[in-house]
Amino acid sequence: MALSQQHLPQLILHAAGWVRRLHDALYPTATPLPEQFSPLFAPFFAPSTLARIRLLLVPEIPNPDFYPALQAQGLPVPLDFRVMAGLTLIDTVLISQSRADFSGPLLASLLFHEGVHVVQYEHLGLDRFMTEYVLGWASADQRYEGIPLESRPTPWNHASRQSPRCRSQSSRP
Ligand SMILES: [Zn+2]
Repeated sequence: MALSQQHLPQLILHAAGWVRRLHDALYPTATPLPEQFSPLFAPFFAPSTLARIRLLLVPEIPNPDFYPALQAQGLPVPLDFRVMAGLTLIDTVLISQSRADFSGPLLASLLFHEGVHVVQYEHLGLDRFMTEYVLGWASADQRYEGIPLESRPTPWNHASRQSPRCRSQSSRP
């Protein structure tokens, strides 16, 4: 059995609830964006956005807590977050210690990508962000690569026409 249109409203609700809970649990331990990134990001982000962003290194990005319930119904999980290099929860950016590339330019590119998600959350709010994310995923044949909210380029790799990835930078599907 595959995830179909009828599952999407529940998926949106569950995903938004998971992001809210995980955000609220992790925000107190996250830290502001390191000063070294300010000159790079200042031309592209509002000062208020840069001031709001929080960062947290985690061993790996966790999968949503409702995945076991999906699997118990014989349904596939939508995306495997454990292989992703980063994940943004509203204003809190999780960076995977096992999947992110910590060399300077790639880390800056990943942080920029996640910063764009912070702006998307600012503009849309959690519920609309998740609605657009899940519907975008569903209309892109349930592929991460086709999600419109994931397709914004960074200024640094625009010339190479490669869009940034939440997914591991070393293992693209
Ligand atoms: Zn992303």
